[in-house]
Amino acid sequence: MNYFSSDFKLGILGGGQLGKMLLTETRKFDIQTLVLEPSEEAPARYSCNGFYKGSLMDFDTVYQFGKMVNLLTIEIENVNLDALDKLEEEGLPIYPSPKTLRLIQNKGKQKDYYVSNDIPTSPHQRFVDLNDLRNALAKDELEFPFVWKCAQFGYDGNGVKICRSALDLVKLPDVECIAEEMVPFKNELAVIVARSVSGEVKTYPVVEMEFHPEANQVEYVICPARIDEKVAQKATEVALKVSEAFHHVGLLAVEMFQTENDEILVNEVAPRPHNSGHYSIEASYTSQFENHLRAILNLPLGNTDSKVAGIMVNLVGEEGFSGQVVYENIEKIMAINGVTPHIYGKRETRPFRKMGHVTIVNEDMTEARRIAEEVKNSIRVISSPLTPKGGI
Ligand code: ADP
Repeated sequence: MNYFSSDFKLGILGGGQLGKMLLTETRKFDIQTLVLEPSEEAPARYSCNGFYKGSLMDFDTVYQFGKMVNLLTIEIENVNLDALDKLEEEGLPIYPSPKTLRLIQNKGKQKDYYVSNDIPTSPHQRFVDLNDLRNALAKDELEFPFVWKCAQFGYDGNGVKICRSALDLVKLPDVECIAEEMVPFKNELAVIVARSVSGEVKTYPVVEMEFHPEANQVEYVICPARIDEKVAQKATEVALKVSEAFHHVGLLAVEMFQTENDEILVNEVAPRPHNSGHYSIEASYTSQFENHLRAILNLPLGNTDSKVAGIMVNLVGEEGFSGQVVYENIEKIMAINGVTPHIYGKRETRPFRKMGHVTIVNEDMTEARRIAEEVKNSIRVISSPLTPKGGI
C-alpha cells in the first residue's frame, strides 16, 4: 500500500490535542487524513484534510465516516463500538481493534482481563451500581478504604475517588463501578509500547509521573524515570506482557504503580498516544505520534530511545479563571534553552482544563528538573482581563 502522497485516507476518531499532534506526523509524511469530532472548535480542525463534525457515539455517524477512509484509528476510546465492529466485518482495518477497545472502555472488564492474563494489578470488585456497592459494604464483603472508579467514561481523575468512610460515598454518581484496593505506591510509572501490524515491538523508556494533589492530573512527566534499573526492567516487561495480551496494534500506554516493596502493578492502559509520551516529541529519536502511525500502517518502527532527558509540564487552566485564554509569561519561559511550549488551540480556559504542555529537554536531568520547576512557577494559564472570574 502506498500511503505517501497518494489517495490513501487515514480516518481519526476524535480531534483533540492528541489528534492535532498526530496530524503533525501525517503532514510530515504527506498522508491524507479525515477527522470526525463533535466540537467545531477542536484542536485538530486545521491540520487534517477533511474535518467532519459529528458524534463519536452515534452508530450512523461513525459508520458513514468509516466508509470514507482506508484505515481507522482513534485518539479517544469513547467511540461507538458497534459501528466499528460492522466496519471491521466489512474489511476496514481498525487499530486499535474494536475488541480491544471494548475491553478497555470498561474499567471492570479491563481489570478482569488483567486477572485472567496473569498481569499484576491491585485486587478489585465490580458493582452494577452504587446500591450494589453499598450492599457489599453492609455485608462486609467490601471494606474501607478503597478506590472507587466509575466503570465507563471517566477521565482525568473525575471518575476516581478514594473512599475512606461512608461520607465519601455521598456524592458518588449512581453508575456501574469498581472498588480497588488502595495501593501504597512509591511512584507512578508508565511505559509506552509500540506494536506494529506484523508484530514488531518497541518500548519507550519508563517515565515517572507526579500528580497535582488536588486536580488529580499529571503535573510532571519525567523521562527517564529516576528509578532503579531493575525496577525499570520489571516495568518494561510487564508493559510488554500487557501489549501481547491485548494483541495490540498501535501505541499502548501502560500506567503502573511501583509499590513500597518494588512490585509493579498495572493501573490502567490507554490504547493510543498518551500524555505520558508527549516529552518524546522533543526528547526522543522518534515521537510517540510518529510511532503510532508507523505501527498502524505496518511501517518499520522508529528508534524509541531518548536523545536527552525530557520533562513535560502540563498547562492547565488556573483556578478562578474562565474565558479567553492568555498564556502569561510564555515569552519568559521560551527564553530558556530547551523549553518548548505546545499550545493545543483551545480558545477558552477553565479551571484545570488541559490547554497545552511544555517540554523541557537537557543533557542533564537535574538541570532539566530545575528548569521544569521554573517553568511551572512562571507560566500561568489565565483569562484575559475582559473576561474575569465567572466570565463566559
Ligand atoms: P483516570 O482514568 O481518571 O486517569 P486512574 O485509574 O488513572 O484514573 O486514577 C487516577 C489516579 O488515582 C491515579 O493516577 C492514582 O494517583 C490514583 N489511584 C488510582 N487507583 C489507585 C489505587 N488502586 N490505589 C491508590 N491510588 C490510586
